[in-house]
Amino acid sequence: MKSYRIALIPGDGIGKEVVPAGRQVLEALAGTESGFQMEFESFDWGGDAYRKHGEMMPANGLDALRGKDAILFGSAGDPDIPDHITLWGLRLKICQGLDQYANVRPTRILPGIDAPLKRCRPEDLNWVIVRENTEGEYSGAGGRVHQGFPIEVATDLSVMTRAGVERIQRYAFKLAQSRPRKLLTVVTKSNAQRHAMVMWDDVAREVAKDFPDVACDKEMVDAMTARMVNRPASLDTIVATNLHADILSDLAAALAGSLGIGPTANINPERVYPSMFEPIHGSAFDIMGKGIANPVGTFWTAAMMLDHLGEAAAAARLMQAVEQVTANPALHTRDLGGTATTAQVTEAVCAAITSSRPLATA
Ligand code: ATP
Repeated sequence: MKSYRIALIPGDGIGKEVVPAGRQVLEALAGTESGFQMEFESFDWGGDAYRKHGEMMPANGLDALRGKDAILFGSAGDPDIPDHITLWGLRLKICQGLDQYANVRPTRILPGIDAPLKRCRPEDLNWVIVRENTEGEYSGAGGRVHQGFPIEVATDLSVMTRAGVERIQRYAFKLAQSRPRKLLTVVTKSNAQRHAMVMWDDVAREVAKDFPDVACDKEMVDAMTARMVNRPASLDTIVATNLHADILSDLAAALAGSLGIGPTANINPERVYPSMFEPIHGSAFDIMGKGIANPVGTFWTAAMMLDHLGEAAAAARLMQAVEQVTANPALHTRDLGGTATTAQVTEAVCAAITSSRPLATA
């Protein structure tokens, strides 16, 4: 029987509640006739580690992750620690250190979810946003000079390499090609940013030649926000820079009903390093410890992880169980207007898994 080594990094806030819930559903799945096992190792990195040891994760932390098949991550963020420390000390360190350059965020309106766009039918909103995940606006290049003096200067340099742009565009075209509509929208801002973003457009045009069956269009990021709201059905696969896609994918999650539902995969497509899977939401300290965090984003994330591991049938079985549960308003958490708890939703998904018949292996 196949056995997968999975690193669990709950992190901060509700990450500590939704990652154990994710483990519970994965154990329920592996316990059915899925034909695989999972060996979990948990890492208590995050804000508490920072308070104790002065760092979010140990300096050699990546070594412990390299031998894993995948990583299930919760969130990083702590009200007492500046956000740039929690982000750079953990999540970005892992994404950049393990070259997880493709950040993939599917968005759909799941059954039973009352999404905010009144004229949008569930079948009108079925997107995947591909975000460049290792450079661009979040390259980390820049600095502060004359700190604290009136003449202080601060820069954040957006770095785009032709290799970095080409590999993410190629990944997005391939993904678009694998989806029924074969439609890719390249998000840009090359009217105002006349160097790197123009190269971004040039590379998209070049890569497009290798994918003649993919219909491709270009949209400025500002116009893109309006198009997502006004013409959701005109979109399918979307590729954007690190910053642009960060913002657009939060909008996408909100349009699908809640930040608590969406999943994210940080993929190293060449599989030299493990990929990392996390719900789209953050640490949500306002609801931490109350047992009301929506675990659906983590379950969908776990399904993406299973797909990546080659367990397509188990992934489909998990999504079927999740959709069965979201279809029942009595099992909605507070973010969806309900009163269900994290534990109740998790138990319902586990029950739906064990009572479902295994799907045919893909
Ligand atoms: P961070 O700074 O770590 O990104 P944040 O609290 O600023 O975290 P999010 O956690 O992404 O931002 O979410 C914003 C709000 O959405 C939260 O304060 C919470 O009320 C709600 N929310 C997010 N995720 C969930 C969830 N899984 N279940 C219920 N509510 C959620």
